[in-house]
Amino acid sequence: MPNYYCEYCGTKSSTIASLTANSCHRHPLGPGKGKHKLYEGSEKTQYSCKYCGTSSSSISGLTANSCHRHPNGVGKGKHSPTL
Ligand SMILES: [Zn+2]
Ligand SMILES: [Zn+2]
Repeated sequence: MPNYYCEYCGTKSSTIASLTANSCHRHPLGPGKGKHKLYEGSEKTQYSCKYCGTSSSSISGLTANSCHRHPNGVGKGKHSPTL
């Protein structure tokens, strides 16, 4: 069974349908302001932020922290994993 992850928070689900049915607590518009978004990259042992290069062993660990090179401004958004 493949695992599907949310790009914003790293929530894991066994189907895309169940992943995108629920609201995301780390959605860029605010907690619960939108649904989980499917992470379309492959499963990795190390995830790097596409803006600043910070790396973490999980998507949830990476996206927990604000990014100092976020396009919306310093600390205006979370790290975002590369695909
Ligand atoms: Zn999410
Ligand atoms: Zn970053």
